[in-house]
Amino acid sequence: MTAPVSKNAATLGKIALDAPIFDPVAFRLNDEQATVIARARELGQTVFAERAGAYDRDAKFPTENYKDLHRTGLLGISIPKAHGGLGADYQTYALAAAEIGRYCGATALTWNMHVCSTLWSGPLADDLDMDAAMRAEHERRRAIHYKRIVEDGAIYSQPFSEGGAAAAGGVAFGTEAKPVKGGWLVNGKKIFASLSGHADYYGVLCTEIAEGEKASRRNTLYLAVPAKADGVSVVGDWDPLGMRGTVSRTLLFKDVFVGEDAALMPRGVYFQAAQRWPHMFLTLSPTYMGLAQAAYDFTLRYLRGEVPGTPPVKRRMYPTKQIAVAQMQIKLEQIKAIWFQAVSEARANPSKEQVLRAYAAQYSVMEGANELATLAIRTCGGQAMLKSLPLERIYRDSRCGSLMLPWTAELCLDRIGREALYEPGETDD
Ligand SMILES: Cc1cc2nc3c(=O)[nH]c(=O)nc-3n(C[C@H](O)[C@H](O)[C@H](O)COP(=O)(O)OP(=O)(O)OC[C@H]3O[C@@H](n4cnc5c(N)ncnc54)[C@H](O)[C@@H]3O)c2cc1C
Repeated sequence: MTAPVSKNAATLGKIALDAPIFDPVAFRLNDEQATVIARARELGQTVFAERAGAYDRDAKFPTENYKDLHRTGLLGISIPKAHGGLGADYQTYALAAAEIGRYCGATALTWNMHVCSTLWSGPLADDLDMDAAMRAEHERRRAIHYKRIVEDGAIYSQPFSEGGAAAAGGVAFGTEAKPVKGGWLVNGKKIFASLSGHADYYGVLCTEIAEGEKASRRNTLYLAVPAKADGVSVVGDWDPLGMRGTVSRTLLFKDVFVGEDAALMPRGVYFQAAQRWPHMFLTLSPTYMGLAQAAYDFTLRYLRGEVPGTPPVKRRMYPTKQIAVAQMQIKLEQIKAIWFQAVSEARANPSKEQVLRAYAAQYSVMEGANELATLAIRTCGGQAMLKSLPLERIYRDSRCGSLMLPWTAELCLDRIGREALYEPGETDD
């Protein structure tokens, strides 16, 4: 099932592989982690990097990249080994995703939506409370989803956003699942649903509401709705500033029947996860960690006159360029340090300090990636921001990070300020 990166790796005579963002020795990664992360980096550099420009230009979903992710086993990166996956934990996945984001932001971001369906139902759910019957049922159901991914290359997405306060965690999701015999009837609308029209299953966050009940966040369900089910439609266009290959259009659900096995988490477990496993919402950041590194990588190569397709003009001898590179390197190391720490301490029931650090890491990466890309453009100059080179795409893609709910840059500031100053339940009354 799992093949080496083969195709372009065989032609590696031409490409010197980049060093990993996080050196395995310096960051104390074990051999198994280093191998999985290297596989992602090699695939990103040798295959995805050259395709990224066209996906961006045409706002086209990276279908070919998904075939390669399946071929190399990375589609099942966080699926437990017992189910045929690579069994990567949260930290390993995050580091691998950063390597993909370094070469194609849209692939990394959509891959994140897909991987979360396995990470949340896998290692994360294993940390949460379930009675024996519920756990056995979950085990049986997730095996169905994992088999589709490992054997058939099925792609899952993760539509949260509805345009209201639900995606920020404020109120119950407006998309509703009404219990019926053998499953649910789903009705609602999701905006900015990455992988629309390209995923095989939409991992929809919705609220289970029986006749006469009120909506409650406690009753959130996470259901894998088959893209081909009756009543599912994709509407609207997609022509955004950045992350164009994500194809994040609008999804409509009209009386869509899904069976009980569609549940990616048992009843009540998503709500429990959102309370007890907050790092589940940090998984959008690896893509942008990779983009931050990409802006820096580009700048070094450009100033050394080594960017393929450009004249070998060196610009590194100017002191102003050297200072700018020094500022970029310092910023990059700051981002790497806080982010590595935060992804390394993802777990159930983190301490208050760890939660605040996770918000700070998200903020630092999302804002920092764009700051680095901005500095890269200023430093490299006009010829470097032509569309024939990757930097202007990195700049546009990196701008999107701060907008991603539920942990937008604004909401991170909001939470850090409040949670640092108030203990749970404290008021000024
Ligand atoms: C490239 C891309 C891909 C995406 N893919 C997906 C996807 O696959 N699945 C998905 O579910 N979503 C996805 N999103 C959606 C994303 O998470 C946001 O929901 C989307 O950007 C819409 O947000 P908005 O800024 O219009 O939201 P609004 O709700 O209008 O919020 C605007 C801003 O107000 C602030 N705000 C919102 N609520 C509160 C609050 N309660 N308190 C304080 N401040 C608040 C936030 O900072 C927010 O950024 C994607 C977005 C982008 C840009």
